[in-house]
Amino acid sequence: MRPTSSRVAVLQLFHEFPTEHMTADQVFRRVPPDTEQCSLASVYRALAQLLEAGLISNAWIGEQRVVYELNRGTRHSHLVCNDCGAIRDIDDGELETQHAAIAAAREFSYTSASLVIFGRCSQCAAALEAGGRRAALRTAIQRVE
Ligand SMILES: [Zn+2]
Ligand SMILES: [Zn+2]
Repeated sequence: MRPTSSRVAVLQLFHEFPTEHMTADQVFRRVPPDTEQCSLASVYRALAQLLEAGLISNAWIGEQRVVYELNRGTRHSHLVCNDCGAIRDIDDGELETQHAAIAAAREFSYTSASLVIFGRCSQCAAALEAGGRRAALRTAIQRVE
């Protein structure tokens, strides 16, 4: 059987995980090993071709990190957790309308926006609070001893 081309393998991967954001490196590590000429360079080439074809989209998420995801037809922004790196989509039509309005007010025709909101996800916030509570309890115990 002829090995799948890296372009097909990469696109299949995005269809397998339609809501996931992956860096080029993560894509490379998840592409099946029997893929034809599978190298990081060929993955980058495949990503560029799929982007060009509008089948996937990409987003800059800070610190030189670019993630790719399946193009589901709606433009969206992202929330990124500073602690664990989790990426959430912001599917907010109002926000898109606002981007277009901001551009229009300055005589720009709107094509796209790249908005990333950085913060701490609820899981990390809960973990931090639990850690804080544990530390407080430790201090309290030491005081009693
Ligand atoms: Zn987090
Ligand atoms: Zn996204």
